[in-house]
Amino acid sequence: MTGNSKGPRDTEPLPGFSDLILAASGDGIYGLDTQGHTTFANPAAVRMCGYTVEEMVGASQHNLIHHTRPDGTPYPRLECPIYAAFSDGKVHRKKDEVFWRKDGTSFPVEYVSTPIWDNGRLIGAVVSFRDITERKQAEKTLRESEERLRKSQSDLHHVSRLSAMGEMASGLAHELNQPLTAVMNYVQAAKRTLEASDDVSSAQVIDYLDKGLIQVDRASNIIRGLRKFINKDNSDRSFEDINEIIEEASKLAFAGSGFENTKFEFQLSKGFKLIFVDKVQVQQVIFNLVRNGMEALGDTRDGHLVIATEKTLDNCIEVFVRDNGPGLDEEIAGRLFQSFVTTKPNGMGVGLSICQSIVEDHAGRLWETRNQDGGMTFHFTLPIVLKDSENGE
Ligand code: ADP
Repeated sequence: MTGNSKGPRDTEPLPGFSDLILAASGDGIYGLDTQGHTTFANPAAVRMCGYTVEEMVGASQHNLIHHTRPDGTPYPRLECPIYAAFSDGKVHRKKDEVFWRKDGTSFPVEYVSTPIWDNGRLIGAVVSFRDITERKQAEKTLRESEERLRKSQSDLHHVSRLSAMGEMASGLAHELNQPLTAVMNYVQAAKRTLEASDDVSSAQVIDYLDKGLIQVDRASNIIRGLRKFINKDNSDRSFEDINEIIEEASKLAFAGSGFENTKFEFQLSKGFKLIFVDKVQVQQVIFNLVRNGMEALGDTRDGHLVIATEKTLDNCIEVFVRDNGPGLDEEIAGRLFQSFVTTKPNGMGVGLSICQSIVEDHAGRLWETRNQDGGMTFHFTLPIVLKDSENGE
């Protein structure tokens, strides 16, 4: 019945054997006349579309089950490949369209629409279609698992780069410790020698040497902190002055930054109790936030970065780093604290996620807000833990 020249006439009943074949087919099969009216429909077609045979036969097939595209836009009948078969006489196949059921739901189909000829005259088309829901679901599952695989591969790649960096930093920290200790010893020796002489100009040099010793000591602390951080040893907590931590970390962040257009301002509230923290780690958080702010400002004219502290009602210290830069890139809003999220060409995208784990390790919270007049503010809190001797206050 699907032959090129010996197809059934649109009004003729099907012969018995063809009926059996059509009834047995799992694919939907229906015929069309040259007006696009359904001439017959097999049981599978009727079942899949949710109509009765009476409702289907005689109705405009396109209006009934093919009126809308998969994206929900109308499907003009002049563009219908099924109807094209009985106007251009060619076979038309589609691998991924949808048919619509009587209840208004749709299902994905692949179909072939074949013209029917009768003595050289086009008299209609026969359409064979298949519900491809399961195949599409299997394809989707496969795509998703491939996507997950790709994502884990790329995460793994990042993580291995990071752990390689961690190892390198650990080795570097170890190597740097020795020359730093040597510098410290030499400077101390020079200081002792000068202290023993009666040269009046020595006082000035001794003062310089003292300043040098403070810097060497600071470098050693940073390196110790780095090694502890890499080794995830966070037990090095002591009672510290938050404002001092901020001033020191900010100076490190500003050092050699070359941001001439940026005005830096401290608005540090006075009179805080000491807080029980790992000083180097908290410095790392401030360093990151200040650097991020500076990088966001870039060459902005009248760039302004404010670093402020305030006491909160729930007995925490809140630190703010506020800039008047371009604000957050919409692309990464909501994913800011995830690892490997960055908009910078050379960014690793781990700064904020490290900051968040440090702050949370200290029982605090880190979050961001958009400033009304532009730019971003990053906030974090650290709880004020009293020393035993202060508990009676
Ligand atoms: P990285 O600095 O390597 O990109 P971060 O975790 O520090 O990684 O920051 C992630 C992203 O968050 C940055 O790439 C940037 O897009 C955005 N971001 C961070 N701070 C700011 C800020 N002050 N203003 C605008 N965007 C920021």
